[in-house]
Amino acid sequence: MGILDGKKGLILGLANDKSIAWGVAQACYREGAELGFNYLGEQLEKRVRPLAESVDATLIESLDVSDDAQLDAFFDKVKAQWGEIDFMVHSIAFANKDALRNPFSQATRSDFQLALDISAYSFIACAQRAAPLMKEGGSMVTMTYLGAERAVPGYGMMGVAKAALEASTRYLAQDLGTYGIRVNAVSAGPIRTLAASAVGDFRKLMEKSARGSMLGRNVSQTEVGNTTAYLVSDLASGVSGEVHYVDAGFHIGAGDPGIE
Ligand code: NAD
Repeated sequence: MGILDGKKGLILGLANDKSIAWGVAQACYREGAELGFNYLGEQLEKRVRPLAESVDATLIESLDVSDDAQLDAFFDKVKAQWGEIDFMVHSIAFANKDALRNPFSQATRSDFQLALDISAYSFIACAQRAAPLMKEGGSMVTMTYLGAERAVPGYGMMGVAKAALEASTRYLAQDLGTYGIRVNAVSAGPIRTLAASAVGDFRKLMEKSARGSMLGRNVSQTEVGNTTAYLVSDLASGVSGEVHYVDAGFHIGAGDPGIE
C-alpha cells in the first residue's frame, strides 16, 4: 500500500535524472501514483521520455509554459486522456544567465519579465488549468528557495521570482481552497541540477548551506521528492498555503558559521 495509490498526478519540469522533478517522480511512483510529464522541446524529450517510461508514465507531452496556446493544448490532452487529476507538481524556473551574473541593480525589464513569467506566473497559469480537472479536491506543489526571503549572493533576479512564487502559492491556496484544492511550496536546499548551474558560485553556496544547516549536510532530490509525495497525499490533507523547507534545517540557523 502506497500513500498515493489510486491517484493520478502531473509532474512538470523534468529535464534529466538530476532534476528535482525526478526525485519527485520516483517518490510518487513508489507510493503508487499514475504519472504524467511534460518536456520542453525535442532536445529534452530524448532525456525525459525514457525516464518517464521507466516510471510507467501514461502521459508524456510537450509543453513550453511561456505559451498560452501550448498550455491550453497540454491541459486539453490531460483532460481527454485522464479526465480528472489528483495532484500537480510544478518544478520549473528560468532566468537568463547574465541576469543572475550581473549586479542586481542593473536588472533589465526584459530579463525581469522573463524570469517572473517562467518562474512564477507559470505556476498560476498551470494551476488555473489544472484546478477544473481536480473534481474531488486536489493538491498542487511548487519548488522554491530561501533566496525568496533573504539576499543570497548570486541568486538576485531568481530570488525576486521566488518571492512572487511564494506569494502566489498563498493566494492560490486562498482562491482554490474553496474547491478543496491545497496549494503548497517546497523550499529546497541547494542541489546540483541543470537550473542550478546558472546560479553564480553554486559550489560555494552548497558548501555554506551544508555548514550552516542543522544536519551539517545538503539535501538530495530523493528527500525533496519524499516530502513532495507527502504533500500531494491525503496525509497532508490539513496543510495548505505553506512553504515547507527541505533544507536540512538551514533556514532556522544563523547561516554559515565559517568553521572549516
Ligand atoms: P532542472 O533544470 O532539472 O529543472 C528546471 C526545469 O524547468 C527543466 O525541466 C526545464 O525544462 C524547465 N523549464 C524551463 N523553462 C521552461 C518553459 N518555458 N516551459 C516548460 N518548462 C521549462 O533544475 P531543478 O533544480 O530541478 O529545478 C526545478 C525547480 O526547483 C525550479 O523551480 C528551481 O528553481 C527549484 N529549486 C532548485 C533548487 C536547486 O538547488 N537545484 C533549490 C530550490 C528550488
